[in-house]
Amino acid sequence: MVNENFIKLPGAYLFSEIAKKVKAFRAEHPEAEIISLGIGDVTQPLVPAVIEALHRATDEMAHAATFRGYGPEQGYDFLRHTIVENDFRRRGIDISEDEIFVSDGAKSDTGNFQELFGPDVQIAVTDPVYPVYVDANVMGGRTGMLGEDGRWSNIVYLPCTAENGFVPELPSQHIDVIYLCYPNNPTGTTLSRDELQKWVTYAQEHDALICYDVAYEAFIRHDGIPHSIYELEGARQVAVEFHSFSKTAGFTGIRCGYMVVPSEVTMRTQSGKRVALNPLWQRRQSTKFNGTSYLSQRAAEAVYSPEGSAQVQQTIDYYMQNARTMRSALHEMGFQVYGGEDSPYLWVKVPEGMTSWSFFDSLLHRAHVVCTPGVGFGPSGEGYVRLTAFGNHEATLTALQRIQTQIYI
Ligand SMILES: *Cc1c(COP(=O)(O)O)cnc(C)c1O
Repeated sequence: MVNENFIKLPGAYLFSEIAKKVKAFRAEHPEAEIISLGIGDVTQPLVPAVIEALHRATDEMAHAATFRGYGPEQGYDFLRHTIVENDFRRRGIDISEDEIFVSDGAKSDTGNFQELFGPDVQIAVTDPVYPVYVDANVMGGRTGMLGEDGRWSNIVYLPCTAENGFVPELPSQHIDVIYLCYPNNPTGTTLSRDELQKWVTYAQEHDALICYDVAYEAFIRHDGIPHSIYELEGARQVAVEFHSFSKTAGFTGIRCGYMVVPSEVTMRTQSGKRVALNPLWQRRQSTKFNGTSYLSQRAAEAVYSPEGSAQVQQTIDYYMQNARTMRSALHEMGFQVYGGEDSPYLWVKVPEGMTSWSFFDSLLHRAHVVCTPGVGFGPSGEGYVRLTAFGNHEATLTALQRIQTQIYI
């Protein structure tokens, strides 16, 4: 018999629904030049330092003396060491090499990590949310049934809307695992150090685990916004963290990310015994994962070199310039705009009387611009759309001009 949890998942995934609508519009209007500010993929090429590292690694593969086959499942020492030095020790954070697990990206890690949780664990997510956290737990059979309102019966949803400044309130019922993503996808908003500290304290007091996704950490511009949850007191006991080179360095096609599982993080057995998650994750990865490609890991290492990090910073600045331009232009047009200051995403309130999808349709049909309907990320996303700053400058400017002339609010 099949795992029926998969059947519970709604069929049309958000981005396939969008693709379908765009395709239908294209068929009717072949002359329209459509600009996508929708899907969260990057557009700028890999930086020279990464390309050079890829070439060097490729040449090594061409000679028996330097050829590499299977690597260590948790990642090569050269990369784990570089990660620890640059992302943690240099910032005064205590993380060691054996707490780093290199992977093919944060989607796999955020999706797979729930395999370590018991079947009855109470999951909480912010709403709207990156869909992977929820769908992976649906597959794991922890979420109950999907209601008419778009909520799973056994998930605790923490609404994040303009009304609460996109800061999730601590839950009133007991939860075991909370997924947090800051800077947030989709809203582009952040949590201050104090706001995140409340969650760490909550997790300590309620014996909860925080799964903290920092895929957009490199886009943080303001002081006082944590780049890692381990900057906070007590986080080593209660949090695991997901990192990705995808948005930081344009690795969406190369594939590399890593997870941090500190040795102190534990969960309980039914009989109350404490079990450390680090050795369990090690066991899981070495059973089901044969490591990230050597080429990807050399490419990731190059992101931290002096040249690499300067070059990557330029690309991030390029996207953040888009974000600034979009923010101020949309604001001037009278839109309520959130995010985009420490993240490449802007979360835009749709005009009075419209829904996420009706505004999506009107942007597509009138301005030939593709956005992502906020409701696709959860019920509390209704009434918003997400725009991304990952486009090129010129196309982004054209899109803004069209919105200004074609959309009335
Ligand atoms: C893009 C993204 C990731 C990274 O995915 P990869 O598999 O590393 O490409 C992780 N989390 C969030 C919230 C994202 O938006």
